[in-house]
Amino acid sequence: MASPYRKHKGKDTWHFCSNCSNWPTSNYDERPAKPTSGELCNECKAKQAAGNCK
Ligand SMILES: [Zn+2]
Repeated sequence: MASPYRKHKGKDTWHFCSNCSNWPTSNYDERPAKPTSGELCNECKAKQAAGNCK
């Protein structure tokens, strides 16, 4: 089960862990699958690597 990908409008960093401290909750773009452009959030990647991505 994967979270959708979200990024703040006007930014290029995608988040995919809803427990990320920077998870966008307003004024964001959302995609159901891994985006093909932009960057992935380092905190989200760290959470995923630690098995702590929700
Ligand atoms: Zn993030």
